[in-house]
Amino acid sequence: MKRVSITNCFFAIVLFNAGALAAAPGQSPPARVSSERNPHHLANMETQTVRLAIHGGAGTIERSKMTPEREREYRAGLERALTAGYEILKRGGSSLDATEAAVRVLEDDPNFNAGKGSVFTSAGTNEMDAAIMDGKTLAAGAVASLKHIKNPISLARLVMEKSGHVMMDSEGAELFAKENGIELVDQKYFFTQERWDALQKIKAAEKSRTSGGGKKFLITDQDRHGTVGAVALDQNGNLAAATSTGGTTNKRPGRVGDSPVIGAGTYANNATCAVSATGDGEYFIRATVARDVSALMEYRGMSLKEAARAALDKVAKLGGTGGLIAIDHEGNMTLPFNTAGMYRGYADPNGNFVVEIYK
Ligand code: ASP
Repeated sequence: MKRVSITNCFFAIVLFNAGALAAAPGQSPPARVSSERNPHHLANMETQTVRLAIHGGAGTIERSKMTPEREREYRAGLERALTAGYEILKRGGSSLDATEAAVRVLEDDPNFNAGKGSVFTSAGTNEMDAAIMDGKTLAAGAVASLKHIKNPISLARLVMEKSGHVMMDSEGAELFAKENGIELVDQKYFFTQERWDALQKIKAAEKSRTSGGGKKFLITDQDRHGTVGAVALDQNGNLAAATSTGGTTNKRPGRVGDSPVIGAGTYANNATCAVSATGDGEYFIRATVARDVSALMEYRGMSLKEAARAALDKVAKLGGTGGLIAIDHEGNMTLPFNTAGMYRGYADPNGNFVVEIYK
């Protein structure tokens, strides 16, 4: 996929309050993207408002443990994903294509917990979950416990479009992938030293705890989990959401998180919004977070920002942490989280990219 040079797109790094982007209820939709202001604009194309937001996981992202070099890598990865998705949207492509493309980029990036950079199970294996949803038709595809799929989000899309099912898991899903030309790889592909070390650290901490040993281990959310996701609004007014994850470090083999559960980690509905979540999956499933955001807008008439905040508050009440990204049918965006940070980025109404990590 062609990459837009960073010099072509004003790369703004701004601090903003989580959720600050959402418009107040009743606010008119954001201005159309004009050819003068938008460096991504293609000549002679009537461009409706397009929107894209992505995340690379929420948690305690320790500034002290983040070297400038590392931070640059994360930001570059997020920017690459934004570029991949935004290029599609500005050409008039669908929100489904844009979210899939953005997520694929993050799946291929070893720094994020999805695809290549997936965390390890307690058995030392990698098991991935993903989902995608089309806000226009409410069609959805989800996959879970995959061991050999290079880009789980593309298999989720295939499940949505060709399987006649919504959700498939493990060997059955991989057989379906093989039959349809989706790329399978050896488990070795998913090995990264950092994720392996995180598993060893968590196992050692568990052992010390159960044996009453007093040894202290510093285990960050970075060690424990992460997820990638994208939400988009295309020129035809269609919303889509896509989420992909390696789950949680040291999870039992067979554990499935919220990411592939439609209505928990992933949801899209043109009538309301598109949502991709990240955080403690068990809590996000119990709070049915993504669908809750949509339902609060639909039944309670809440704004996107209010609904997203209310849904996250329910997670917090249960004891969970995390965040989400969401776009509504008018193009409002919100990216709230109740953790110290969330890898995130979006294209603003002028087509400029904003990438942020901390609060
Ligand atoms: N929600 C993911 C899961 O529980 C993990 C994360 O987003 O950090 O599988």
